[in-house]
Amino acid sequence: MGIEQKGMMFVLSSPSGTGKTTLVKKIAQSNKNFSISISHTTRKPRPNEINGKDYYFASISEFKDLIKKNEFFEYANIFDNCYGTLKKPVLEKLSQGKDVLFDIDWQGTKQLNKIENLSLVTFFILPPNRKTLKERLLNRHENQEELVKKRMNKFKEEISHWNEYNYIVVNDDLEKCYNEILSIIMLEKKGQNQKQDMSKIKKMVDELLK
Ligand code: ADP
Ligand code: 5GP
Repeated sequence: MGIEQKGMMFVLSSPSGTGKTTLVKKIAQSNKNFSISISHTTRKPRPNEINGKDYYFASISEFKDLIKKNEFFEYANIFDNCYGTLKKPVLEKLSQGKDVLFDIDWQGTKQLNKIENLSLVTFFILPPNRKTLKERLLNRHENQEELVKKRMNKFKEEISHWNEYNYIVVNDDLEKCYNEILSIIMLEKKGQNQKQDMSKIKKMVDELLK
């Protein structure tokens, strides 16, 4: 399928529980030109999740079939489940001039970055500290200590990919983080890149890893 891109693509990645889904939804809710890319996943829905809205929940054989048919832009195995982005809906939205938001991990971002002729801007979201991250995960997964432990164990590996992204933002206060991302997006849409102090960010990441 050819890429006739009018809209732009914005990726948000982060260690699990940092808040990227919340941020992506907030951006799309308050800005009508943004559309969220709805991924396919083989993981089970959480109580508040709706099929076709949060994800397309698929069986492993359905997912494998889509891989075989080359329908995915990118896909990855994360926490023992498969997650992937279909090409067709994204290309349709872009050709309609819509900007598309992606809540995907570093593996998917790497794959999208390799596709030529895509205008992709990537954000890596950091939590303010590990204690807050754990609290957010426990809040999202009440009474599921094991699952939270598993996600926290992945933290170091996930965060090690921060320097593969265009922009790094901290999600401490939600409103502040949202405003920061939105202002970068608006400038990017005008073709203006922002410079960030990477040595300061590296110090922040080192602090998170202590
Ligand atoms: P992710 O998509 O990165 O895994 P979520 O968006 O699901 O994370 O957020 C994890 C939890 O943290 C959710 O319960 C969400 O409501 C909460 N959360 C997100 N951002 C903030 C914030 N800035 N302050 C407090 N809680 C937050
Ligand atoms: P969750 O199970 O918490 O919804 O998501 C787990 C991880 O999968 C998150 O890091 C999220 O960004 C990532 N993810 C969700 N959809 C996709 C996708 O389509 N592709 C890739 N590569 N990662 C995804």
